[in-house]
Amino acid sequence: MDKLAIVVPCYNEEEVLHIAADALRDVLDDLIRKQKIAQDSFLLFVNDGSKDRTWELIEEEHAAHPAQIRGVKLAGNVGHQFALTAGLLIAKDRSDVAISIDADLQDDVSVIEEMIDKYHAGNDIVYGVRSNRKKDSFFKRFTAQGFYRFMGIMGVKTIYNHADFRLMSKRALEQFSQYGENNLFLRGIVPLIGYQTDCVYYERKERVAGESKYPLKKMLALAFNGITSFSIKPISLITWLGCVIIVGSVLAAVYALISYFTGNVVQGWTSLILSIWFIGGVQLLAIGMVGQYIGKIYVEVKHRPRYNVEKVLE
Ligand code: UDP
Ligand code: MG
Repeated sequence: MDKLAIVVPCYNEEEVLHIAADALRDVLDDLIRKQKIAQDSFLLFVNDGSKDRTWELIEEEHAAHPAQIRGVKLAGNVGHQFALTAGLLIAKDRSDVAISIDADLQDDVSVIEEMIDKYHAGNDIVYGVRSNRKKDSFFKRFTAQGFYRFMGIMGVKTIYNHADFRLMSKRALEQFSQYGENNLFLRGIVPLIGYQTDCVYYERKERVAGESKYPLKKMLALAFNGITSFSIKPISLITWLGCVIIVGSVLAAVYALISYFTGNVVQGWTSLILSIWFIGGVQLLAIGMVGQYIGKIYVEVKHRPRYNVEKVLE
Protein backbone atom coordinates (compact mmCIF):
# COMPACT_ATOMS: atom_id res chain seq x y z
CA MET A 1 0.00 0.00 0.00
CA ASP A 2 1.39 3.43 -0.92
CA LYS A 3 1.99 6.05 1.70
CA LEU A 4 0.44 9.43 0.90
CA ALA A 5 1.65 12.82 2.12
CA ILE A 6 -0.62 15.83 1.70
CA VAL A 7 1.49 18.98 1.69
CA VAL A 8 -0.14 22.22 2.79
CA PRO A 9 1.76 25.53 2.64
CA CYS A 10 0.45 28.02 5.23
CA TYR A 11 1.08 31.71 5.55
CA ASN A 12 -0.97 33.51 8.21
CA GLU A 13 -3.67 30.86 8.06
CA GLU A 14 -4.76 30.75 11.73
CA GLU A 15 -8.39 31.17 10.73
CA VAL A 16 -8.45 28.12 8.49
CA LEU A 17 -5.85 25.80 9.97
CA HIS A 18 -8.09 23.67 12.19
CA ILE A 19 -10.79 23.52 9.51
CA ALA A 20 -8.25 22.41 6.91
CA ALA A 21 -6.67 19.85 9.25
CA ASP A 22 -10.06 18.32 10.06
CA ALA A 23 -11.21 18.19 6.46
CA LEU A 24 -7.97 16.69 5.21
CA ARG A 25 -7.80 14.16 8.05
CA ASP A 26 -11.27 13.01 7.06
CA VAL A 27 -9.99 12.49 3.52
CA LEU A 28 -7.04 10.45 4.80
CA ASP A 29 -9.25 8.32 7.07
CA ASP A 30 -11.66 7.66 4.24
CA LEU A 31 -8.90 6.61 1.83
CA ILE A 32 -7.29 4.41 4.49
CA ARG A 33 -10.66 2.76 5.18
CA LYS A 34 -11.09 2.09 1.46
CA GLN A 35 -7.56 0.62 1.46
CA LYS A 36 -6.34 3.02 -1.21
CA ILE A 37 -3.42 4.40 0.82
CA ALA A 38 -1.21 3.14 3.65
CA GLN A 39 -2.22 3.45 7.29
CA ASP A 40 0.70 5.75 8.08
CA SER A 41 -0.16 8.36 5.45
CA PHE A 42 0.02 11.89 6.84
CA LEU A 43 -0.56 15.63 6.42
CA LEU A 44 2.46 17.92 6.26
CA PHE A 45 1.80 21.54 7.14
CA VAL A 46 4.53 23.96 6.09
CA ASN A 47 4.55 27.19 8.05
CA ASP A 48 5.95 29.84 5.72
CA GLY A 49 7.13 32.32 8.35
CA SER A 50 3.62 33.29 9.47
CA LYS A 51 3.25 36.32 11.69
CA ASP A 52 0.13 35.00 13.42
CA ARG A 53 -0.50 31.86 15.48
CA THR A 54 -0.33 29.42 12.54
CA TRP A 55 2.69 27.53 13.89
CA GLU A 56 1.22 27.18 17.39
CA LEU A 57 -1.90 25.72 15.80
CA ILE A 58 0.17 23.26 13.76
CA GLU A 59 1.91 22.19 16.99
CA GLU A 60 -1.47 21.73 18.66
CA GLU A 61 -2.68 19.60 15.76
CA HIS A 62 0.47 17.50 15.89
CA ALA A 63 0.08 16.97 19.65
CA ALA A 64 -3.51 15.85 19.17
CA HIS A 65 -2.78 13.58 16.18
CA PRO A 66 0.95 12.82 16.24
CA ALA A 67 0.81 10.06 13.62
CA GLN A 68 -1.32 11.87 11.08
CA ILE A 69 -0.19 15.46 11.35
CA ARG A 70 3.34 16.65 10.86
CA GLY A 71 4.68 20.16 10.53
CA VAL A 72 7.63 21.98 9.05
CA LYS A 73 8.57 25.42 10.26
CA LEU A 74 10.48 27.58 7.81
CA ALA A 75 12.66 30.17 9.50
CA GLY A 76 11.09 33.05 7.58
CA ASN A 77 8.62 33.87 4.82
CA VAL A 78 9.91 32.61 1.47
CA GLY A 79 6.68 32.69 -0.54
CA HIS A 80 4.24 30.06 -1.70
CA GLN A 81 6.41 28.43 -4.40
CA PHE A 82 9.40 27.88 -2.12
CA ALA A 83 7.30 26.85 0.86
CA LEU A 84 5.57 24.28 -1.32
CA THR A 85 8.89 23.02 -2.69
CA ALA A 86 10.28 22.63 0.83
CA GLY A 87 7.23 20.59 1.81
CA LEU A 88 7.34 18.41 -1.32
CA LEU A 89 11.03 17.63 -0.98
CA ILE A 90 10.63 16.78 2.70
CA ALA A 91 7.61 14.61 1.87
CA LYS A 92 9.53 12.84 -0.91
CA ASP A 93 11.82 11.05 1.53
CA ARG A 94 8.98 10.06 3.84
CA SER A 95 6.24 8.90 1.48
CA ASP A 96 5.50 7.22 -1.87
CA VAL A 97 3.25 9.87 -3.31
CA ALA A 98 2.47 13.50 -2.43
CA ILE A 99 -0.42 15.86 -3.08
CA SER A 100 -0.08 19.62 -2.68
CA ILE A 101 -3.10 21.70 -1.74
CA ASP A 102 -3.68 25.22 -0.39
CA ALA A 103 -4.65 25.64 3.25
CA ASP A 104 -7.77 27.65 2.44
CA LEU A 105 -9.66 24.62 1.00
CA GLN A 106 -10.51 26.47 -2.22
CA ASP A 107 -9.48 23.33 -4.02
CA ASP A 108 -12.01 20.54 -3.75
CA VAL A 109 -10.73 17.89 -1.30
CA SER A 110 -13.25 15.40 -2.66
CA VAL A 111 -11.27 14.90 -5.89
CA ILE A 112 -8.24 13.67 -3.94
CA GLU A 113 -9.66 10.16 -4.15
CA GLU A 114 -9.88 10.46 -7.93
CA MET A 115 -6.26 11.63 -7.99
CA ILE A 116 -5.21 8.55 -6.03
CA ASP A 117 -7.21 6.32 -8.40
CA LYS A 118 -5.45 7.86 -11.37
CA TYR A 119 -2.13 7.38 -9.61
CA HIS A 120 -2.93 3.69 -9.13
CA ALA A 121 -3.85 3.56 -12.82
CA GLY A 122 -0.25 4.39 -13.64
CA ASN A 123 -0.03 8.19 -13.72
CA ASP A 124 2.97 9.84 -12.09
CA ILE A 125 1.49 13.33 -12.10
CA VAL A 126 -2.19 14.19 -11.75
CA TYR A 127 -3.15 17.83 -12.22
CA GLY A 128 -6.12 19.39 -10.49
CA VAL A 129 -7.80 21.54 -13.12
CA ARG A 130 -10.60 24.05 -12.56
CA SER A 131 -13.59 23.13 -14.65
CA ASN A 132 -14.79 26.74 -14.77
CA ARG A 133 -14.23 30.17 -13.28
CA LYS A 134 -17.84 31.11 -12.53
CA LYS A 135 -16.97 32.10 -8.95
CA ASP A 136 -14.15 34.44 -9.97
CA SER A 137 -14.55 38.16 -10.42
CA PHE A 138 -14.43 39.34 -14.03
CA PHE A 139 -11.03 40.89 -13.36
CA LYS A 140 -9.49 37.70 -11.94
CA ARG A 141 -10.94 35.60 -14.76
CA PHE A 142 -9.76 37.97 -17.45
CA THR A 143 -6.23 38.32 -16.05
CA ALA A 144 -5.88 34.60 -15.31
CA GLN A 145 -6.94 33.51 -18.80
CA GLY A 146 -4.81 36.18 -20.41
CA PHE A 147 -1.92 34.85 -18.34
CA TYR A 148 -2.24 31.26 -19.60
CA ARG A 149 -2.62 32.45 -23.21
CA PHE A 150 0.35 34.78 -23.00
CA MET A 151 2.47 32.04 -21.43
CA GLY A 152 1.57 29.84 -24.39
CA ILE A 153 2.56 32.54 -26.89
CA MET A 154 5.84 32.99 -25.05
CA GLY A 155 6.52 29.29 -25.45
CA VAL A 156 6.03 28.18 -21.81
CA LYS A 157 4.21 24.87 -21.50
CA THR A 158 1.63 25.04 -18.70
CA ILE A 159 -1.60 23.20 -17.95
CA TYR A 160 -4.54 25.52 -18.63
CA ASN A 161 -6.43 26.46 -15.46
CA HIS A 162 -4.23 24.37 -13.20
CA ALA A 163 -2.69 25.99 -10.14
CA ASP A 164 -0.65 24.10 -7.57
CA PHE A 165 -3.17 21.42 -6.59
CA ARG A 166 -1.57 18.25 -7.91
CA LEU A 167 -0.38 14.76 -7.17
CA MET A 168 3.22 13.72 -7.78
CA SER A 169 4.71 10.26 -7.41
CA LYS A 170 7.99 9.67 -5.62
CA ARG A 171 9.92 9.31 -8.87
CA ALA A 172 8.40 12.52 -10.27
CA LEU A 173 9.53 14.28 -7.09
CA GLU A 174 13.00 12.73 -7.41
CA GLN A 175 13.27 14.26 -10.88
CA PHE A 176 11.81 17.55 -9.65
CA SER A 177 14.53 17.72 -6.98
CA GLN A 178 17.09 17.90 -9.82
CA TYR A 179 15.83 21.36 -10.76
CA GLY A 180 18.09 23.65 -8.76
CA GLU A 181 16.79 26.97 -10.04
CA ASN A 182 16.03 29.83 -7.73
CA ASN A 183 13.50 31.53 -9.98
CA LEU A 184 10.94 28.93 -9.17
CA PHE A 185 7.74 28.58 -11.18
CA LEU A 186 6.39 25.14 -10.34
CA ARG A 187 3.63 25.17 -12.95
CA GLY A 188 6.28 25.49 -15.63
CA ILE A 189 8.70 22.92 -14.21
CA VAL A 190 6.30 20.07 -13.51
CA PRO A 191 5.26 19.57 -17.18
CA LEU A 192 8.98 19.28 -18.08
CA ILE A 193 9.32 16.16 -15.92
CA GLY A 194 7.42 13.94 -18.34
CA TYR A 195 5.89 10.54 -17.46
CA GLN A 196 2.26 9.62 -17.91
CA THR A 197 0.00 12.35 -16.57
CA ASP A 198 -3.71 12.98 -16.22
CA CYS A 199 -6.10 15.63 -14.91
CA VAL A 200 -9.01 15.69 -12.50
CA TYR A 201 -11.61 18.46 -12.77
CA TYR A 202 -13.20 20.40 -9.93
CA GLU A 203 -14.93 23.65 -9.17
CA ARG A 204 -12.86 26.06 -7.15
CA LYS A 205 -14.68 27.40 -4.12
CA GLU A 206 -14.42 30.54 -2.04
CA ARG A 207 -11.87 30.63 0.74
CA VAL A 208 -13.35 29.04 3.91
CA ALA A 209 -11.99 31.94 6.00
CA GLY A 210 -9.36 34.65 6.00
CA GLU A 211 -8.30 36.54 2.93
CA SER A 212 -6.09 35.93 -0.07
CA LYS A 213 -2.34 36.01 0.49
CA TYR A 214 -1.87 36.66 -3.21
CA PRO A 215 -2.52 40.35 -3.83
CA LEU A 216 -2.28 41.68 -7.40
CA LYS A 217 1.37 42.61 -6.86
CA LYS A 218 2.36 39.02 -6.00
CA MET A 219 0.22 37.70 -8.87
CA LEU A 220 1.99 39.93 -11.39
CA ALA A 221 5.37 38.97 -9.94
CA LEU A 222 4.49 35.29 -10.34
CA ALA A 223 3.39 35.81 -13.95
CA PHE A 224 6.48 37.82 -14.83
CA ASN A 225 8.73 35.26 -13.16
CA GLY A 226 6.94 32.48 -15.01
CA ILE A 227 7.73 34.04 -18.36
CA THR A 228 11.27 35.20 -17.68
CA SER A 229 12.34 31.90 -16.09
CA PHE A 230 11.05 29.78 -18.93
CA SER A 231 11.43 31.73 -22.08
CA ILE A 232 14.04 33.84 -23.79
CA LYS A 233 11.51 34.71 -26.46
CA PRO A 234 11.31 38.38 -25.38
CA ILE A 235 14.99 38.70 -26.34
CA SER A 236 14.41 37.08 -29.71
CA LEU A 237 11.52 39.48 -30.28
CA ILE A 238 13.90 42.44 -29.81
CA THR A 239 16.32 40.93 -32.35
CA TRP A 240 13.49 40.54 -34.84
CA LEU A 241 12.26 44.05 -34.23
CA GLY A 242 15.79 45.29 -35.04
CA CYS A 243 15.72 43.39 -38.34
CA VAL A 244 12.28 44.76 -39.20
CA ILE A 245 13.41 48.34 -38.54
CA ILE A 246 16.51 47.91 -40.70
CA VAL A 247 14.28 46.72 -43.54
CA GLY A 248 12.00 49.67 -42.73
CA SER A 249 14.98 51.98 -43.05
CA VAL A 250 15.28 50.98 -46.72
CA LEU A 251 11.69 52.11 -47.29
CA ALA A 252 12.38 55.27 -45.31
CA ALA A 253 15.46 55.83 -47.49
CA VAL A 254 13.42 55.54 -50.67
CA TYR A 255 10.87 57.99 -49.30
CA ALA A 256 13.56 60.44 -48.12
CA LEU A 257 15.44 60.30 -51.43
CA ILE A 258 12.27 60.85 -53.47
CA SER A 259 11.40 63.83 -51.27
CA TYR A 260 14.98 65.12 -51.67
CA PHE A 261 14.95 64.98 -55.46
CA THR A 262 11.44 66.37 -55.82
CA GLY A 263 12.69 69.37 -53.87
CA ASN A 264 10.94 71.15 -50.96
CA VAL A 265 12.79 69.52 -48.03
CA VAL A 266 14.61 71.36 -45.27
CA GLN A 267 18.37 71.11 -45.57
CA GLY A 268 19.82 68.19 -43.59
CA TRP A 269 16.48 66.41 -43.24
CA THR A 270 17.36 63.59 -45.65
CA SER A 271 20.61 62.53 -44.00
CA LEU A 272 19.03 62.90 -40.56
CA ILE A 273 16.05 60.66 -41.40
CA LEU A 274 18.30 58.07 -43.01
CA SER A 275 20.60 57.84 -39.98
CA ILE A 276 17.78 57.78 -37.41
CA TRP A 277 16.09 54.80 -39.04
CA PHE A 278 19.18 52.85 -39.85
CA ILE A 279 21.04 53.42 -36.59
CA GLY A 280 17.89 52.72 -34.58
CA GLY A 281 17.53 49.36 -36.29
CA VAL A 282 21.19 48.47 -35.89
CA GLN A 283 21.07 49.34 -32.20
CA LEU A 284 18.08 47.12 -31.54
CA LEU A 285 19.66 44.30 -33.47
CA ALA A 286 22.88 44.67 -31.49
CA ILE A 287 21.05 44.70 -28.16
CA GLY A 288 19.13 41.64 -29.28
CA MET A 289 22.36 39.85 -30.21
CA VAL A 290 23.92 40.61 -26.83
CA GLY A 291 20.66 39.43 -25.30
CA GLN A 292 20.89 36.12 -27.16
CA TYR A 293 24.16 35.39 -25.41
CA ILE A 294 22.84 36.47 -22.05
CA GLY A 295 19.83 34.23 -22.66
CA LYS A 296 22.15 31.31 -23.34
CA ILE A 297 24.10 32.01 -20.17
CA TYR A 298 20.83 32.17 -18.28
CA VAL A 299 19.73 28.80 -19.60
CA GLU A 300 23.12 27.28 -18.78
CA VAL A 301 23.38 28.55 -15.21
CA LYS A 302 20.03 27.00 -14.37
CA HIS A 303 21.63 23.59 -14.77
CA ARG A 304 18.35 21.90 -15.45
CA PRO A 305 18.39 18.18 -16.05
CA ARG A 306 18.53 17.60 -19.79
CA TYR A 307 16.41 14.47 -19.83
CA ASN A 308 14.63 12.05 -17.57
CA VAL A 309 15.25 8.38 -18.28
CA GLU A 310 12.13 6.39 -17.54
CA LYS A 311 13.26 2.87 -18.34
CA VAL A 312 16.31 0.95 -19.55
CA LEU A 313 15.91 -2.54 -20.97
CA GLU A 314 19.03 -4.68 -20.67
N1 UDP B 1 1.10 31.04 0.93
C1 UDP B 1 2.37 30.78 1.41
N2 UDP B 1 3.29 31.80 1.45
C2 UDP B 1 3.01 33.06 0.99
C3 UDP B 1 1.71 33.30 0.44
C4 UDP B 1 0.78 32.27 0.43
O1 UDP B 1 2.68 29.66 1.83
O2 UDP B 1 3.88 33.92 1.04
C5 UDP B 1 0.11 29.93 0.90
C6 UDP B 1 -1.23 30.26 1.55
O3 UDP B 1 -1.20 30.03 2.94
C7 UDP B 1 -2.18 29.30 0.82
C8 UDP B 1 -1.55 29.20 -0.56
O4 UDP B 1 -0.21 29.66 -0.44
O5 UDP B 1 -2.17 28.02 1.41
C9 UDP B 1 -2.29 30.02 -1.60
O6 UDP B 1 -2.49 31.34 -1.15
P1 UDP B 1 -3.89 32.08 -1.29
O7 UDP B 1 -5.00 31.13 -1.02
O8 UDP B 1 -3.86 33.30 -0.44
O9 UDP B 1 -3.89 32.48 -2.83
P2 UDP B 1 -5.17 32.64 -3.80
O10 UDP B 1 -5.96 31.38 -3.67
O11 UDP B 1 -5.91 33.83 -3.33
O12 UDP B 1 -4.58 32.81 -5.16
MG1 MG C 1 -6.58 30.55 -2.04
